Amino acid sequence: MVEKTATVLIVDDQPANIHTLAALLKREYRILTATRGEKAWELATGDHPPDLILLDILMPDMDGYELCRRLKNHEATKTIPIIFVTALGEERDEAYGLDLGAADYITKPFSPAIVRARVRNHIQLKLKTDLLEQIAMQDGLTQIPNRRCFDQRFQEEWARLSRSAQTLALLMIDIDHFKAYNDHYGHGAGDECLKRVAHAIHQVPNRPMDLVARYGGEEFAALLPETDEEGALHLAYQMLASVQSLGIEHAYSGAAPWVTISIGLAVHSATHPKCSAEHLREAADQALYRAKIEGRNRVVNELSGSPGQEGLVSL
Ligand code: GH3
Ligand code: MG
Ligand code: MG
Repeated sequence: MVEKTATVLIVDDQPANIHTLAALLKREYRILTATRGEKAWELATGDHPPDLILLDILMPDMDGYELCRRLKNHEATKTIPIIFVTALGEERDEAYGLDLGAADYITKPFSPAIVRARVRNHIQLKLKTDLLEQIAMQDGLTQIPNRRCFDQRFQEEWARLSRSAQTLALLMIDIDHFKAYNDHYGHGAGDECLKRVAHAIHQVPNRPMDLVARYGGEEFAALLPETDEEGALHLAYQMLASVQSLGIEHAYSGAAPWVTISIGLAVHSATHPKCSAEHLREAADQALYRAKIEGRNRVVNELSGSPGQEGLVSL
């Protein structure tokens, strides 16, 4: 079942201990190993994080408690279950480990059957939690990230900005005359159109940190970390072109004979600082509003005084 693809990281300064645990688990899981805390931290925060960590406590340099504390305080690793496997058998050692956020505590010498069972239980729980988390962050209709995901990432990116001098670009994207589309083609066709537009704009940015989410109704938002005004404009025009190239007929639009979008762009940077995330969002909203009143099917940059340029090129 699911466990086969799960990864277990075994951390112990004694290679013999790693060997014993790995032998117990390697048939069911992919195994990663580390004999030092620093190495374990690298693996846990890397591109292929483990689904569970078996952690020794007594190790030179960084001990298991310290590593556990760091992992539980780090956004990307805090949900990885940690099981202490240790010779420290005192009640207070166990309580201390659990207080740090460990999922479980196993004392050596251990029973192989119990280690296997506990690992299996915690991994099942972790995979279920991951799945629920994923569902909670995804829009049911379009299968792209939802508003909840956007709000969370927006706060995170904003917090990151306060620690660095990076730029953050935001696009607010809205389908033009979508009410008329629903009214004339029906709600089912409207839903289908929303899915295709979502897919078209979602596949435009390709950096791992970029996020395109359904913001609500027929409105989308793109969060582009470390992207300046020029880069964001480039992506916005690509989105316009991508939706246009779908060629979805919209005879009642007024903006074009096919489905189009309008985009408002705002950036936070050293030269155009915003005092809050809300301020950045409002600036992008204002730009979108201008794109609408200036004729739709265009990108408006909050910084440009001149009217937005129509993004349409003839099909
Ligand atoms: P504008 O160009 O100014 O954005 O005009 P508009 O008609 O797109 O904007 P308005 O806000 O008046 O209408 C939005 C429409 O989007 C109305 C609503 O029925 C439709 N809509 C919102 N969510 C969904 C959805 O999930 N499915 C469908 N089919 N329609 C939706
Ligand atoms: Mg609209
Ligand atoms: Mg709208």
